[in-house]
Parts: sequence; structure tokens; C-alpha cells
Amino acid sequence: MASPSLIPAHFIVFFVVSRLMSIIGNLRPSKNSLPCEIDSLGVHAKLRYDLDAIGLASTDYGNIVHEIPSAVLYPTSIDDIIELIKFSNECPLPFNVAARGHGHSVRGQAMAHDGVVVNMLSLKKHYKNGNGIRVSTSGNYADVGGEQLWIDVLNATLEHGLAPLSWTDYLYLTVGGTLSNAGFSGQTFLYGPQISNVLELDVITGKGDFMTCSKDQNSELFYAVLGGLGLLGIITRARIVLAKAPKRVKWVRMIYSDFSIFTRDQEHLISTKGLEYLEGSLLMDYTPANNWRSSFFSPSNESQIISLLKKHGILYCLDMVKYYDDETANSVDKDVQMLQEGLNFIPGFTFMRDETYVDFLNRVRRGEITLKSKGLWDVPNPWLNLLVPKSRILDFNAGVFVDIIHRQKKTTGPLLVFPLTKIVWDDKMSAVVPDEDIFYSVGLLHSGSFNDWQDLDNQNNEILEFCDRAGIKIKQYLPHYKSKEEWIKHFGPKWNTFQERKAQFDPRMILSPGQNIFNYV
Ligand code: FAD
Repeated sequence: MASPSLIPAHFIVFFVVSRLMSIIGNLRPSKNSLPCEIDSLGVHAKLRYDLDAIGLASTDYGNIVHEIPSAVLYPTSIDDIIELIKFSNECPLPFNVAARGHGHSVRGQAMAHDGVVVNMLSLKKHYKNGNGIRVSTSGNYADVGGEQLWIDVLNATLEHGLAPLSWTDYLYLTVGGTLSNAGFSGQTFLYGPQISNVLELDVITGKGDFMTCSKDQNSELFYAVLGGLGLLGIITRARIVLAKAPKRVKWVRMIYSDFSIFTRDQEHLISTKGLEYLEGSLLMDYTPANNWRSSFFSPSNESQIISLLKKHGILYCLDMVKYYDDETANSVDKDVQMLQEGLNFIPGFTFMRDETYVDFLNRVRRGEITLKSKGLWDVPNPWLNLLVPKSRILDFNAGVFVDIIHRQKKTTGPLLVFPLTKIVWDDKMSAVVPDEDIFYSVGLLHSGSFNDWQDLDNQNNEILEFCDRAGIKIKQYLPHYKSKEEWIKHFGPKWNTFQERKAQFDPRMILSPGQNIFNYV
């Protein structure tokens, strides 16, 4: 793979823009694929057909799939979305509608070929007609528009000294986008994924019905939409659980050379009281110790680690975090020491950072800004995110990390691996996870170039084939499949329920065509 750092940034920007223009130029939107009666709707003036709007709606973070919609709706109120979906339902041949949050999917999941993409962020500018972000007087929850970014939720709730409990690693994602998947990070073992931290939702179904739902009211819709991949309804408001926000964090990283000791310590820590965050990642001898997503190590630490990498080839980093504030500032170091007692990392290879809570939560943004300044953000990102049952994680390490990734030395992106606990996921929700009490999140966050991303994708396929052959019952997170059979296998025992929910809430199969699920049915 060509080293991205050798390519001048302005060349990459030019290349990306010209490539996109050529795709869109060849596939101009066909307004004709929408019924002409659409021009008589109230939302008519909020539909855009210009190249800027179409270009944005046919691109996502993955930069691999480009589907051209017929139009893009820039709603100024929730009623606009309702009107559009109801109209599609009334057509003899309904057109597809996809909500686009911040477009950080990697395989076109928020796109709508020949349909209408709803640019949810447009509601942010018109929050008086939407939900904005409102913290309850009790301080127990915030009502948040589905179009809001998590970074804005954080900033708004911090004004009250409060914050949500469950996060993603990166905060420039919409509430509706992550709740349609699951939304998880290092806090999830303790608090559950973001979908487990929602009390109530407002949803526009595929029939255009506006419904409020919770565990007690319209519960079938509530469970359906959480992890429902945008296929069962568009989330316009979520009531998110809040708690007192800490001020600072102690962020500790420990290095291991033995994967089984590393995972044993990870599993020990998630069963220990007093820890708020746990993740893990891999270092390889052919990549730098710091990567765009994490510049944790100082230059002198980095050289120490490089010599260790020369010896071992692969190292494993365990990241744990202890929150603290003014009242606990005096005891936090002792608490960290206690958490480290009995852990078997390589002696001397433990590193600590002290950061504000906000800087810690917003850590990936620093990497994004650096990559953007080098023109390396808008490149193909053929990510593969897997959930691996604990019982097979050692086989996964040997077969995938060692025998495919390290041997082939193709990928330079971050490689994440950390355990999650099933007990904090609600099985009634649509999200799909492996059938074991503990399973591992594995994030293979590859970035490629427009010429070589397919090599990385071939490697992804090799990894999936290996798991299949070895009988490792992985589940994809942010799933991407090409056939109905694969989707049925993915959902497993939840498939029938998912189909029934689709028939109930979106019988004309209007929503979220970019997921490529019901197009095959
Ligand atoms: P989009 O890509 O715009 O949409 C995703 C899907 O949700 C589409 O099917 C879309 O139609 C649907 N959708 C969008 N808005 C709504 C709505 N309001 N109602 C119903 N359906 C809707 N995920 C994690 O869990 N943890 C992480 O730590 C994490 N880190 C990430 C870091 C980066 C840099 C990136 C690029 C992604 C990361 N993700 C992570 C994945 C991310 O959560 C998903 O890609 C998510 O869908 C992105 O949100 P979005 O607003 O960009 O959604």
C-alpha cells in the first residue's frame, strides 16, 4: 500500500473532489423517478436537486459506495419528514427514504438510490420546530433531537454539571445514527450501549405515523427501532439518561506481549468495581506506536515501545480510565494503583495521562483534525467491526491478528479489541450480539487509498471466511451483507421478529434502502 503520508494533501483533496464529481456527473439525479405530484407538496420547496446536495447524500465516511438519490430533503420541521413519508406511501410505486445523520456509515447505509435522502442535520438549524437539546428539571435525563451530534449533547448537558453515561469513541455522530446501530465504547461493559440508556423515543414510522414510545408505551416500536438500522422508523427525539459529570480522568495504558494474559486482565477488570472505562488495541512492528486515533505515547515512550515491538512483533495495549472530581482528587491515584494490583502487564510498561473529562471523551477529534489537515480523512475506509464470542477470542487472535493481519502487513489503521458484557444489552431490541455472556468488540479500522482499498477489503473477506471455516460465531457490528441468506444468518433467532416488525412499521419497505436488507426479500 502506498504510504498516505508521502502524498501531498492538496493532491488528495483534488483527487477526491474530481473522483466524486465524475461519479455524480455520470449519474445525475433523475427527478423523474419521483412522482410529479411531489411538486404540489408543502415540502416541495425544501427538496434539493443540486449537485452539492446530491453529492453529499451520495457520499459517506467509507468512501466506497455511492448511490445517487433523486432528491434530498432539508427539513425545517418534523412535519416535513412526515409529509414526505406519507406521500411515498400514497404512491402506487413508493419511493425510498433514508435518514442521513452525519453520514459516518462506511457502506452507503444512509443512502437512497433514486429515492429521497433526509438531511437530518438540517433540523439542527431549525431546532425551534424540532427538539434541540433540553435537560429535564430533575436532571435525570435530556430530551434530544435525533439529528443532534453527541458532542453537542455533551456540551449542553455539561452546562448543568451532567452528562450521558454511555458513549462512542467519536462524538461527531448523530443520536439517531448511533441509536440505529447500538453506540458503544469503553463505558459499555458497565452502563450498556447507548441503546440501553434511552427512556423514550419519538419516531416517524415507515407509514408516516408519528409515535412516542418507551418500554411501557408502544413498546414494540421502542424495541424495534433501537438497533433497527433505520429500517423501522426515523428517530426524531430520544430521552437520554444523565448522571453527574466527572471533571477529570486518569487514563492508564498498560502493555502486554501475551494475548491470553491481556484478555484475562481485561476480563478481570470489567468484573471489578471502580472502573469506568476499558478498551484495548494492538500495536504491530510495521506501524508507528501512535496512530491518528491515539497519540497517547510521548516520543521517549514511543522509542521504548518500538524496541519491545522488535522483540515481540505484536503488542497489546490495555486502556483503563478512572473518573474523578474535586472530592475524589486526593484518592484517585490510590484507586488506580488498587485497580492495577495483580495485573500482569510487562513490568515498567504502564503509562498514565491526566485529562479533562471532555478532552478524554473528545479524543478522536484531535486525530480527525490532523488527518483532515493532511487530506487523509476523506479516503476509502473499508472498516470491519466484529463481535467475537469470548470462548473463541484466542482462536481469533491466532487466526486473524497473527496469521492474517500481522503476516500480510497491509493495514495501518487502528485495531481495537475489548470485552463487552451481554447482561447490559436488552435482547428485545433489534441489535444483534453473540450468544455468550462476554463477547469482544474487534474494530479493524483500515484506511486505504482509492487505488488499494480493495486489497484491504479482500483481507476483510479472508477474515470472515476464516471465522466461518473455524466455526467462530461472530456477528458484524454496523453490518454489511450482500444476500438475504447472510442477513437471515446475521439476525439468527431475531430474523422473524425483525421481518414482522418491518411489516408492521414499514409495510411498503420505504425506509433505509442503503442497508440492503429487504431489497432481497
Ligand atoms: P449515518 O451514517 O448518517 O446513518 C447510519 C444509519 O442510521 C443509516 O441507516 C441511516 O439511515 C440511519 N439513521 C440516521 N439517522 C437516523 C435517525 N434519526 N433515525 C433512524 N435512523 C437513522 N460506533 C460505535 O458504536 N462506537 C464507536 O466508538 C464508533 N466510533 C466511530 C468513529 C468514527 C470515526 C466513525 C466514522 C464511526 C464510528 N462509529 C462508532 C460508527 C457510528 O456509530 C455509525 O456509523 C453511526 O451510524 C454513525 O452515525 P451517523 O449520524 O453518521 O449515521
